[in-house]
Amino acid sequence: MIKEIELKLLPEQAANPDIIRQKAIKKSGFPKRRVKDIQQLRRSIDARKSKPIVSLRVAVHIDEAPGSAPNLLNNLQQVAQQDPVIIVGSGPAGYFAALELIELGLKPIIFERGKDIRARRKDLRSIQKYGIVHPHSNYCFGEGGAGTYSDGKLYTRSHKRGDIYKTLRILVEHGANSDILIDAHPHIGSNKLPQIVANIRKTILQHGGQIHFESCVTNLVMAKENIRGVIVNEQSEHLAKAVILATGHSARDIYYLLDGHGIKVEAKAFALGVRIEHPQTLIDRIQYNQSPREEHLPASSYRLACQVNGRGVYSFCMCPGGLVVPAATAPGEIVVNGMSLSKRNSAHANSGTVVAITLEDLAPFKDKGVFSALELQRSVEQSLFQFGDGSQRAPAQRLTDFVNGELSESLPKSSYIPGLYSASLHELLPKGIYQRLQEAVQIFGHKMRGYYTEEANVIGTESRTSSPVRIPRNPETYMHHEVDGLFPCGEGSGYAGGIISAAMDGQNVARAVKKVYG
Ligand SMILES: Cc1cc2nc3c(=O)[nH]c(=O)nc-3n(C[C@H](O)[C@H](O)[C@H](O)COP(=O)(O)OP(=O)(O)OC[C@H]3O[C@@H](n4cnc5c(N)ncnc54)[C@H](O)[C@@H]3O)c2cc1C
Repeated sequence: MIKEIELKLLPEQAANPDIIRQKAIKKSGFPKRRVKDIQQLRRSIDARKSKPIVSLRVAVHIDEAPGSAPNLLNNLQQVAQQDPVIIVGSGPAGYFAALELIELGLKPIIFERGKDIRARRKDLRSIQKYGIVHPHSNYCFGEGGAGTYSDGKLYTRSHKRGDIYKTLRILVEHGANSDILIDAHPHIGSNKLPQIVANIRKTILQHGGQIHFESCVTNLVMAKENIRGVIVNEQSEHLAKAVILATGHSARDIYYLLDGHGIKVEAKAFALGVRIEHPQTLIDRIQYNQSPREEHLPASSYRLACQVNGRGVYSFCMCPGGLVVPAATAPGEIVVNGMSLSKRNSAHANSGTVVAITLEDLAPFKDKGVFSALELQRSVEQSLFQFGDGSQRAPAQRLTDFVNGELSESLPKSSYIPGLYSASLHELLPKGIYQRLQEAVQIFGHKMRGYYTEEANVIGTESRTSSPVRIPRNPETYMHHEVDGLFPCGEGSGYAGGIISAAMDGQNVARAVKKVYG
């Protein structure tokens, strides 16, 4: 028999398995000798009270010990001799599609424009240190995609889109801490993700899949309304009955390539703004009412949203104890994003703060048709670069100066390694976006007393929030409306956003591909 129980514990109690056990047994009402095991099912922090409380749901196993969880890797087949399926991109969508194909008995052949994890790391260092952006190997491109050196938050709202538990279990079976199975806001961290991604690569190869790095898909092999395969590095042709296009939100060349072939793509709404970085101690003081925070509490986070002049302005990808990183995918752009290490122990808390883009912002780019949103995104990123000194140093302003439209005389300390310089972001951002951000951060200051402070940096620009283009597909077959065999997948297709939703989309698309093969 299993009895589920809710426990409310102090953080130091929740960190002690003996205390959890004692309290769970007591609350279960069963004698200790009959309790065979206690399993944690769900863990969340309630910081609304003056003293934060950890809520735990546990399963008390009475008279019978639980069986061990099934190993999902046992479901994988040897597929070296099976029908090939081409996957373009090795991000969460591409790698999880590959694992699912292997489970279904098909052979994934992955082409990835970037380098493997280890070689990619060197290119990241050269962005951080020398401001040199490699167009195929950066924070978005390379093994594991944008997910590898990301924050590794695994929270998703897309519960209806797939089996979140399976996706998380696969990550655990490849080296993630099993805490991600119980935490309300699971997180891995960019120091742990690379090894997990490398382990997934090993699984794919061991089961007969293929992975080709530094292999950019530069063209498609088309036969009327069917896709037959892809051209890699403008040279070699590779054929398969199905092509999964999992190229992420930053592969602008792919959108133009599809359009060049007359394959329909659509403009898609996205959001654009800045990244705001506070001292973590300040956020802890606001959220936990304590600073420094006690040992057993994680760095605190926030989520903020409001409407300004009919549009949503919201915090995005909040990274407690994190770092702001340069996420451009081509030379000549300034793009920032956020990540954190597993311990989330940096001195800074950052989050994107972005405004939903509408037709009003796209008016100057009307002649770009379906690429109007993409070109707005590119133009903001390039204009910030041109304003700077040719490096990856990012323009920044104190939050209060940003609101008052004044250049900052000095800037607070930042985690952004290439460095910040003081700039008039209030003049550099499109007016409609700046004005909404200006008002929103003051509203956020009322919602979270202390948020609106001169101690925070506003850093430009947070522009890769999601894809500005959608590749339309049939919701049942997952295939492009007009092209047989072409399966748009993951964030770049416009149907997913974030690591888990992209991974689940990869799994769904793989199952759809299996139907094509019968
Ligand atoms: C710094 C940072 C932090 C983030 N933090 C989080 C987070 O904490 N939580 C979260 O859920 N999400 C986070 N994200 C977003 C998340 O990483 C993406 O949503 C997710 O990776 C999308 O997965 P995907 O597989 O669809 O695309 P991607 O991960 O973008 O992968 C696409 C892959 O395709 C490859 N590719 C592109 N074009 C070609 C081509 N022509 N030929 C061959 N290969 C090609 C690229 O090199 C890339 O490897 C973060 C992103 C960044 C940049």
